[in-house]
Amino acid sequence: MLYVKGSGWDMETIEAAGFAPVSLAYIRRLAALPALSDPQMVNELATHTLRAGAPAPSVETILHAILPHKYVDHTHADAVLSISNSPDGEKRIRDIYGGRAVVIPYIMAGFDLASYCAREFPKQATKQTVGMVLLSHGVFSFAEDARESYELMIELVTMAEKYLAARKAWSVGPPPATADGFAREDAARLRRDVSEAAGFPMLCRCNDSPRFLGFARHPEVGRLSQGSPATPDHVIRTKPLPMLGRDVGVFGSAYRAYFERNAGAAKEPKTMLDPAPRMALDPTLGFAAFGRSARDTRIVEELYEHTIDVILRAEALGGWRPLEDRHIFDIEYWDLEQAKLRKGGTPPPFAGEVALVTGAASGIGKACAEALLRRGAAVIGLDRNPAIESLFKRPDYFGAVCDLTDAAAIDAALDAAARRFGGVDMLVLNAGIFPSSAPIQSLQREAWRTAMSVNVESNLLVMQAVHPLLALAPRGGRVVVIGSKNVPAPGPGAAAYSASKAALNQLARVAALEWAKDGIRVNTIHPNAVYDTALWTEEVLASRAKAYNLTVEQYRRNNLLKTEVSSKDVAELAAEMCGALFAKTTAAQVPVDGGTEKLV
Ligand SMILES: [Zn+2]
Repeated sequence: MLYVKGSGWDMETIEAAGFAPVSLAYIRRLAALPALSDPQMVNELATHTLRAGAPAPSVETILHAILPHKYVDHTHADAVLSISNSPDGEKRIRDIYGGRAVVIPYIMAGFDLASYCAREFPKQATKQTVGMVLLSHGVFSFAEDARESYELMIELVTMAEKYLAARKAWSVGPPPATADGFAREDAARLRRDVSEAAGFPMLCRCNDSPRFLGFARHPEVGRLSQGSPATPDHVIRTKPLPMLGRDVGVFGSAYRAYFERNAGAAKEPKTMLDPAPRMALDPTLGFAAFGRSARDTRIVEELYEHTIDVILRAEALGGWRPLEDRHIFDIEYWDLEQAKLRKGGTPPPFAGEVALVTGAASGIGKACAEALLRRGAAVIGLDRNPAIESLFKRPDYFGAVCDLTDAAAIDAALDAAARRFGGVDMLVLNAGIFPSSAPIQSLQREAWRTAMSVNVESNLLVMQAVHPLLALAPRGGRVVVIGSKNVPAPGPGAAAYSASKAALNQLARVAALEWAKDGIRVNTIHPNAVYDTALWTEEVLASRAKAYNLTVEQYRRNNLLKTEVSSKDVAELAAEMCGALFAKTTAAQVPVDGGTEKLV
């Protein structure tokens, strides 16, 4: 039996279930066939996988099967790629490894490569052979023992690293550059353009660290970056080349030309994928990665960080020698590679979109963040509470401590968030305070001013700062204001709260009028009696109950339906208001309160 990595599993997180068991003797016999088409190969592998529900075995299964060792490791190590893609790459690789590694020219992955290796390996292999280098692709190691095979991999790669170091080609970097012109609207505009070209919203992750920015400003970036990926396999995530600058139309034309140039030579007809870039090099933004999820954008960034090293080290050896683009095309349009991506299934409704939630550390705000994450959005959480930063530990969440009454703090938080996700599509204005109850004649001016500052003015500041980003949202901006039942039905003793929420309500209505031309919808939710929030301390609850001559328990369910309203109930409506259900609705005010007699 051969246990081989299942297609689509990540080696960082793989489990036993991620390996597919296939019949080894049978697969070795396949390698001896004169030819085997991709559909036939997939069929043979699927019908000789011996565990129901196992993942599809790797497209390299036959190659793993023909190596006469119990354990086989395969990587696309940077150092090996740099040397193999430099002048006289093959000779250098042979000089480094001598008889220790079999050297195979570049052949596209799949049956042809496996069949070639099955014939070539026995010819080149000696008693010292512990590995195999596939030029412009990667390296294998093998042994009778898992640890030994792993250690041989480290050893083979270290030999390549030392070779580079001895030629002053290891510690190379682009001339470092200092970020000086990042503007979040530039990132949002780029994200909108890329999403438009793709036909669906995508996140944009910007990195203007000295390394990325240095490479983007490299005097020869045009030549260095417009060759090929470091190894062809990257293409399914990165597309063949990064976009230079921000002209998505120019990139799309070049991509179309690449497709037409190569599709003609393909055996079967091909359908062009979307012509949007997955990465860009820009002298101001640095490096930008595009993807439908935060995880995808992180992968693209990580791949390119390595690609920069691979290219610059090959340069230091005398010149980066990229692969011809027909080889890259063969992998990008190989059905077996496309199948890896399709495995993801239908994306969730907010895939590629970004939601900003204020006051997200607890209560309704936290529930909104959860509801939006569940629907596939990347979420930016802002709050005064430092817990906001580590509220969710996942790549599609960014939390920042922010005093929303401070415009400069909002700017800083938005800049950081725009670097991470590239914009804002949905804004949930939730942050608010409930000052302690007081009749008007004893209401402290300070309490009044604080309520107005936090519940009204801070929302104005956030709206002003976020509006340019909402206007650039690929599918139109959405704002959900968490209002209050107090707006249509104020209560005694809550003048500051009720007046501030009423002012916010009017602000939202004016925003709906002013922002409709920018494609931004603004809707309001009026919750009432949501007691699982930080606002409702036992003290506030008792005091409000008293104002209505009710017990706390009566007060909790004091609505027509005699039901309790939770943060989650409010959050689910807020998330739906950002979705297709409310696509034609703006300036609506919807209660979530179990029914209020006074308002019927
Ligand atoms: Zn490979």
